[in-house]
Amino acid sequence: MEAIIYIWLAALGAIFGSFLGCMGYRIPNKIKTTYPSSFCSNCKKPLKWYMNIPVFSYIFLHGKCAYCKSKIGVIYFICELIGLVLFPMNYYLFKFDMNFFLATIFDCLLIVTIVSDFLYYYISDRVLIISGLLILIVLYAFEGPTEMLYSLAYALVLFLVMLGLKFLGNSMFGRESLGDGDIKLMAVIGLALGIFNSFVTLFFASVIALVFSLITIKKHKDGVIPFGPFIIFGAMLLIYFGSVITPYLTELFSL
Ligand SMILES: [Zn+2]
Repeated sequence: MEAIIYIWLAALGAIFGSFLGCMGYRIPNKIKTTYPSSFCSNCKKPLKWYMNIPVFSYIFLHGKCAYCKSKIGVIYFICELIGLVLFPMNYYLFKFDMNFFLATIFDCLLIVTIVSDFLYYYISDRVLIISGLLILIVLYAFEGPTEMLYSLAYALVLFLVMLGLKFLGNSMFGRESLGDGDIKLMAVIGLALGIFNSFVTLFFASVIALVFSLITIKKHKDGVIPFGPFIIFGAMLLIYFGSVITPYLTELFSL
């Protein structure tokens, strides 16, 4: 029985990964999310069903379009792998408790955002609103209406603090310091993790983004790297490893 759940979640994760990666491409490019069905972004030919099987098709087609042989971005394959691996891992770690659903929402948010933010510097409002609503439903179901309202207040506080930091940064550096998408994203993080853990998320995200920008410094000559995926990744570290990390942090800040 357990094995069936894992296989089912892996398949579902790969399908979601494929679909959401595609949304990460379609939303910034203003292509409808439902129509047309999958097509090659180079030659625009519609894909046959066997060219559209998550994970497998990319491997069998050697990462190339079957018609025009143009390369399919490896990022879409990574999206499918994220779903394939993380959905079953969520069940392994949390069974079907609240963290399973929060982790799965963040996996999905990460998949859309690594495509839209890395390739197009775009974080979709629609995606953030849907994520926020899903988090509220999960909080309501597992923690009740009072806790849900508290979380909503945390999100608002975080949004205002980030907005303040943005204006401070802008006047200090004389240029755009934080994207609007990042600020709205932090409100969604605040909803799920509360204020303290959201700032820990921001710290993790900054460290990972710094390391990433040092590694890929040659590719980003303009010095702009998208911050959104790192924020989501930081939040995921807290959801996945919070029980290990948080005791150290609370001791550090002696809370
Ligand atoms: Zn093609």
